[in-house]
Amino acid sequence: MCIGCRNMKPKKDLVRIVRNKDGAVEIDLKGKSPGRGAYLCPDRECLARALKAKRIEKEFGAANMQDIAAGLEELFRACTPPDQKNEQADKGVNKQEI
Ligand SMILES: [Zn+2]
Repeated sequence: MCIGCRNMKPKKDLVRIVRNKDGAVEIDLKGKSPGRGAYLCPDRECLARALKAKRIEKEFGAANMQDIAAGLEELFRACTPPDQKNEQADKGVNKQEI
């Protein structure tokens, strides 16, 4: 489950965040690091929601939250396409339905 939008998704579609033995939170790109994990869509909106609700902090008691947020932001910027034109195209199609 994504801690941002709370949708159930396959783990392979989510980014894992893990708290290691030292209590520091890391982005676990391989999904295999030991420790307590949480999952997030590779989507900046989900990151923003999770941060706003302080879900990552609550989940991990993370002290290095700023670093994590910056790291995730950077990672997701690469994953999320800059334009959302497809969404607008879908709305146009719906309007023409009788
Ligand atoms: Zn999500």
